[in-house]
Amino acid sequence: MAFYFGGKMSILIVDDSLVSRTFISDLLNEVGYTELILCESIEDAYKTIGFDDPETTSTDLDLILLDINLPGKSGIDACQEISEHELFCDIPIIVISGADHLDGLEAAFKAGASDYITKPPSHTELLARIRSALRLKTEMNQRKAREEDLLVLNDRLAEMNRELERLSTTDSLTGLANRRSFNEFLSREWLREQREQQPFSVIMIDIDHFKKYNDHYGHLEGDVCLQKVAWALQSALCRPGDLLARYGGEEFVAILPHTDLQGAVELAENLHQRIRELELEHEDSPVSSNVTVSAGIASVIPNQGISPSQVVAMADKALYAAKQAGRNQSAIATSPSCEAQSLN
Ligand code: GH3
Ligand code: MG
Ligand code: MG
Repeated sequence: MAFYFGGKMSILIVDDSLVSRTFISDLLNEVGYTELILCESIEDAYKTIGFDDPETTSTDLDLILLDINLPGKSGIDACQEISEHELFCDIPIIVISGADHLDGLEAAFKAGASDYITKPPSHTELLARIRSALRLKTEMNQRKAREEDLLVLNDRLAEMNRELERLSTTDSLTGLANRRSFNEFLSREWLREQREQQPFSVIMIDIDHFKKYNDHYGHLEGDVCLQKVAWALQSALCRPGDLLARYGGEEFVAILPHTDLQGAVELAENLHQRIRELELEHEDSPVSSNVTVSAGIASVIPNQGISPSQVVAMADKALYAAKQAGRNQSAIATSPSCEAQSLN
């Protein structure tokens, strides 16, 4: 009767007795296991599988049949070493023991053996034990593969979550923070500055006569203009604690924690300077031959009587004043009641 267990399972047989090695390997060959490595000592086996040499290590093994009573290193010591080896520890070991060495079995199990066979083994017993050890190994391999798949999936999920988070907080055209992250940043920084009683400034920035720009150069060129203006404005902000966001349309907003009015005015001047340096042609602008922006500045020390949205409204009012005063300039909100004063 021949059993065929299928699959290319690789089995290492370590036995100093040629008769025993031949008996086992013939039997295994007969039932279809042809990937056999036969060794007469542990030293020989270690060399063959590269046990001590990571360069030549082969971990394709599925089962080890190990004679317990060997010249040189003993089967028990080998069990211990294999079960402690990072790469080989999952390979089941069936110990082969002469009937007169059964007292060594307990030590072998302690050392990591998973089963044993007595010599001379009967066909049925040998095949049954090998089959169950290999089934165990197959299940272990499948579980490991599933775990690895899960790890890969987890990594991919984490990556997608990061991307989702980035997309939900970023304006897709300019890459700046979007309105949502602006709102979050504003509330957070406001509370911090309220605690620390530090000045807090907001600058609203709006491209002048942008409708005319779109009408003259087309919407796509308008988009490119928006990107260039966004990046130029961003390049003027040098403190890591500052935030520039796209507020909507052709309007941007800078939040400047720890910055007083004088600092905000200087920064607004830098913003104008960066836009001037862009030298983006705007033929239809009544203000200049190049693209310009107007800015509204509000600066306060946060207290209980004023809300962050009021400061944004103050900056917006100041922006309106800058527009009214002729555009291409900044204006300052002088009080929470939103009066504004042009800087020109
Ligand atoms: P003002 O100097 O008073 O700010 O005049 P303006 O023309 O810039 O302002 P208005 O609010 O009249 O027009 C804003 C224009 O910005 C109209 C709108 O089509 C354009 N716009 C808003 N968002 C985008 C965008 O994402 N891409 C492009 N190309 N244009 C946009
Ligand atoms: Mg505008
Ligand atoms: Mg506008």
